[in-house]
Amino acid sequence: MTKIVEAILENLSTREVFLFRVSCANCGAQYTNKPIRFSKAGELPATQSKRIIYDALYEQELRAVRQGAIRSASQHMNYCPICKRVVCNRCFMICDDLDMCKSCAARLEEPGKPVLSEIVEFSL
Ligand SMILES: [Zn+2]
Ligand SMILES: [Zn+2]
Repeated sequence: MTKIVEAILENLSTREVFLFRVSCANCGAQYTNKPIRFSKAGELPATQSKRIIYDALYEQELRAVRQGAIRSASQHMNYCPICKRVVCNRCFMICDDLDMCKSCAARLEEPGKPVLSEIVEFSL
């Protein structure tokens, strides 16, 4: 699942803040992580050497936040084996034979229950 989430994860990060987003292909709900500030946000590197170090640090912190967002998104998003879309827990149905998204379940007339029926807010 992490590979699939990775493919749809959007990077909205700036030089100051790390931010990632995933969207449900069915209902369009968007989930982002809590924005995390770059540890050197707003600090200008004094020398060329420091710039290289800050850049590497940025990459490292970005990767860490990205990994966390992917891990978290994997718990909230699901891959529909019928339409091959990634949908949120509210749009994913537990069915008798094969779990699938709401739209496919309706089209194929498969009865089932959504993973999550209530609206809950979460961040990655
Ligand atoms: Zn959804
Ligand atoms: Zn589907």
